[in-house]
Amino acid sequence: DQIDFVKVSVMDGIDEEPNEAEEAKTISKGLQEERKTLPIYPYRDELLEAVNDNQVIIIVGETGSGKTTQIPQYLHEAGFTKQGMVACTQPRRVAAMSVAARVAQEMGVKLGHEVGYSIRFEDCTSEKTLVKYMTDGMLLREFLGEPDLASYSVVMVDEAHERTLSTDILFGLVKDISRFRTDLKLLISSATLDAEKFSDYFDKAPIFKIPGRRFPVEIHYTKAPEADYIDAAIVTVLQIHVTQPPGDILVFLTGQEEIETLDEILKHRTRGLGTKISELIICPIYANLPTELQAKIFEPTPEGARKVVLATNIAETSLTIDGIKYVVDPGFCKIKSYNPRTGMESLLINPISKASANQRAGRSGRTGPGKCFRLYTAYNYFHDLEDNTVPEIQRTNLANVVLTLKSLGIHDLVNFDFMDPPPSEALLRALEQLFALNALNVKGELTKTGRRMAEFPLDPMLSKMIVASEKYKCSDEIISVAAMLSVGNSIFYRPKDKQVHADNARMNFNTGNVGDHIALLNVYNSWKDTDFSTQWCYENYIQVRSMKRARDIRDQLEGLLERVEIEISTNLNDLDAIKKSITSGFFHHAAKLQKNGSYRTLKNPQTVYIHPSSGLAQVHPRWVVYHELVLTTKEYMRQVIELKPDWLVEIAPHYYQLRDVDDPTTKKMPRGQGKSAL
Ligand code: ADP
Ligand code: MG
Repeated sequence: DQIDFVKVSVMDGIDEEPNEAEEAKTISKGLQEERKTLPIYPYRDELLEAVNDNQVIIIVGETGSGKTTQIPQYLHEAGFTKQGMVACTQPRRVAAMSVAARVAQEMGVKLGHEVGYSIRFEDCTSEKTLVKYMTDGMLLREFLGEPDLASYSVVMVDEAHERTLSTDILFGLVKDISRFRTDLKLLISSATLDAEKFSDYFDKAPIFKIPGRRFPVEIHYTKAPEADYIDAAIVTVLQIHVTQPPGDILVFLTGQEEIETLDEILKHRTRGLGTKISELIICPIYANLPTELQAKIFEPTPEGARKVVLATNIAETSLTIDGIKYVVDPGFCKIKSYNPRTGMESLLINPISKASANQRAGRSGRTGPGKCFRLYTAYNYFHDLEDNTVPEIQRTNLANVVLTLKSLGIHDLVNFDFMDPPPSEALLRALEQLFALNALNVKGELTKTGRRMAEFPLDPMLSKMIVASEKYKCSDEIISVAAMLSVGNSIFYRPKDKQVHADNARMNFNTGNVGDHIALLNVYNSWKDTDFSTQWCYENYIQVRSMKRARDIRDQLEGLLERVEIEISTNLNDLDAIKKSITSGFFHHAAKLQKNGSYRTLKNPQTVYIHPSSGLAQVHPRWVVYHELVLTTKEYMRQVIELKPDWLVEIAPHYYQLRDVDDPTTKKMPRGQGKSAL
C-alpha cells in the first residue's frame, strides 16, 4: 500500500541572516560555543537593553531561536537574579522539565540548584534556585502564597500563543501587579503571536522581534482524504524511510495511546523488512513518558540510521528537535472541550488550525530544506481548518479558575481584565458549580470549605471529595484515591500478549464489584502492604512508575490535609463512607441505568456508557457516579462506582430533589431482582 501525495506549495524560507552559524553548530563544539550559534545570540545585548528600558516587552521569534533556553540565562548573566528569581512559564510539564535540564547543563550546574523546575506535585528547586522553569499553572498557584510575586525579579510568560487557561489568567494577574511592582520585569514570548494584540493588551508594550531562519519547506497533501490517519501515518513514515534522502522524521499524534500504537506497529513492520532497509530509530515523546526516555529524542542519530520522533503537540513549538527534515502531519490534536449548557467536559480529537499546521510544517526546515506531508487534502486545509485555535478559556470548565481568583480576593470576575473574556454562560456555570459544592455562599463569597478546597492543586470536584472526607472519617483512604486518580490511566499494565492475565489481575482488585475508585484504593493499599514492592507490581500487572508517582502525590496531599487542619483518619471497612466522600465531590457526575444498558446523566440528560475497562462494565449498577467522560466511539464514563440514590439528596440537597432520584422501576421490582443489589 502506498499513498499518493501532491506537492501543492512551498512555504518560503525566512533567511534574514546568513546560515554559517547553524553550520558551525554541526561541528561539535562546547556548549558555550553552541549557545553562540543560536539565532538569538546576536541580539543578546539589544534584548537586555530593551528589558532595562521597559517594564514589559513582547518577544517574537521562530521556534528554536533560543528564547526559552537563552533569555533566562542572559538575564541571569546580566545580574537580574540578584534581585530575585527569573521565572519562565511553560504550558507543558515536559517542556518545563526538559528545558530546565538543558539550561542546567549549559550553565554547568546541578538541576534543582541554580536552575530548577516546578510542576504540579514535583518541585525540583532549592534555596539556591535563581532560574526557575515552571508550568503556567504553578505560577498561578504561587500567587496564592505570594500575591505580589516578591521572590521574582522577572517573569517570562513563554509560549504565550498557546493561550492556555492558566496563561490567560496569568496575563491579567501579572499585568495587575506590574502597576505597583514597578521593579518587576515582564516578558511575553512566543514563536507565533499576534504581537500587536498582545502589545495592545499590555498597554502598548514594545515588540522585540528576533529575526528567524528557516529553509523552504515543500508542502505535500494527500490526493484523496485518508480514512484512517494512523494507518496513513505508518505508510507515510515507511514511504519516506525507503524513498527519501537521509534526515529525521517527526510525526504529530494526539496522545500517548496513538503514539504507543504507532511505535508498536512501526517496530513490527520494520522488523519484517529485516536488513533490506536501514535502521529506523523510534523515539516517542509525550507528557507521561519517563524522564530518562524523554532525553532520547535529543540524542544525535547515528550515521546510516534514521530517527522517527512520535510526538504530541509538544513538538509543535515547545521543544525543538534538531535534525528533523520530514514532518508527517495527520492534522489532529486532542483538545478539551466544554459544553456550558450541559456542564460536560470531554477530551476530543479535533482538527488543528491553519496556524498549527504551519508551525508543524516549519519544524522540518530548521537545518535545511524540508518536506511536510499532510495526511489531508489541500481542499481540507483551505476550506475546513480554522485560522487559529480557540483560546482554552473559551472552551473549558472555569470552576478551578474561579475558585483560584476568588481565593486571591478577586470577586468581580465579569470585569476581570481578560485578554479574551470567557463566555458569560461558562462563568455562571462555574459559579453555580462552586455554589453546589458549597465552596461559595449565596453572595458568591468563599466559604470555609471553599478556602480549604483552594489549597489543593486539584480540580474542585477532587478537592471537595478530599475536604468531605473529614465528615466521613476516611481522609486516609480518600487521599489515596485522589492520588491514584491524579496519576491518570497508567496504573494498569496490559501487554498485548498477556491481556487475559492482566485483566484477571485487575479484576482481583475489584472483588465484590466495589467499583473502580475502590479498586484503585485496593491496589494502593496492597502495594503499601508489600512495603512498596516492585516485584509485587510486576506480578500484578501494575506499572511501578505510576505507583511511585501516586505515592509521591499522596505524600503531598497528606501535607496539605495538615495545612487545612483535617485529621488523617482511616475508615477502610466502611466502603459507603468512602463512596459518600467521593459522591460529595462528584455528585454532578451521577448517572442512571437505562433499559438498553446505557446510562443517562441525571441533570441535563445525556446518554453515556460505562467504559469497557471499568470493573463495573459487566455489572450494570442502577445508579453510578463517574470520574470523567471520554469520547471515543461513544461517550464513556471512566472510573465508576455504584451509589445509592438517596445519597444524592442527602449530600447535595440544593442540587438534587427527591423527584430527581425517584425510581419507579425499583418500586415495581421485588428486591434483589434488579441487576444490581441496591
Ligand atoms: P525557542 O524557545 O526559541 O523555541 P529553545 O531555547 O527551546 O528555542 O531552543 C534552542 C536550542 O536548544 C535548540 O537548538 C534546541 O534543539 C536546543 N535544546 C533545547 N532543549 C534541549 C535539550 N533538552 N537537549 C538538547 N538540546 C536542547
Ligand atoms: Mg521555547
